[in-house]
Amino acid sequence: MRIKTSKYILEVDYEKTKEYYTNAQQYECECIYCKNYIAAASGLPKETKEFLEILGIDYMKIALVSKLYADENKVSYDCYCRIAGWIMSNHAVEKRTQDNRVYYVRVVEEIAEMGIFFHDDRNIFYDCHDFPDPCFEMNFKVFLPWKLEKREELQ
Ligand SMILES: [Zn+2]
Repeated sequence: MRIKTSKYILEVDYEKTKEYYTNAQQYECECIYCKNYIAAASGLPKETKEFLEILGIDYMKIALVSKLYADENKVSYDCYCRIAGWIMSNHAVEKRTQDNRVYYVRVVEEIAEMGIFFHDDRNIFYDCHDFPDPCFEMNFKVFLPWKLEKREELQ
C-alpha cells in the first residue's frame, strides 16, 4: 500500500504490520508517565487513531513511549513504533559535518494532529521483538490529558 504525505512516500505492508501488532504485548513501563499514556491513549484524537489504523499500528503496543514534558493538565509524549515496508522517498536534508561525514536532518511533518517523522536507520531503531523485515520506524508526538489521580511525582 502506497502512502503519500507532503514529505514522504511510504510503501506500507499493512497485513504484516497489523499481524505484528495483533500478536504483540501491550506496552508496559512502571513510570507514572507511561502509566498515564496507557490510561489516556484511548482518548487520542479520532484523526490520530484513524491514521495509526491506516498503517496497521496499535497505539497500545508500540515500542517506546517517552515523556517530553508535562504540566498539571496534560503530558506530551514522544512515541516510537515499527512499520513493515520501506520508505520510498523523503525530503530529508543531507548535511555534512566539519570532517565531511554525511548526516540527515529529520523532516517532521504534521499529520493527523501528530508531529511525525519516519526513518530507516537501523542503528537507532528501538527494540521491537521479532518485527519482520523490511521495516522502518515512525516517531510521533502526541498530547494526552492526565488521567491518573496521583501526580506528586510530577515535575
Ligand atoms: Zn515509562
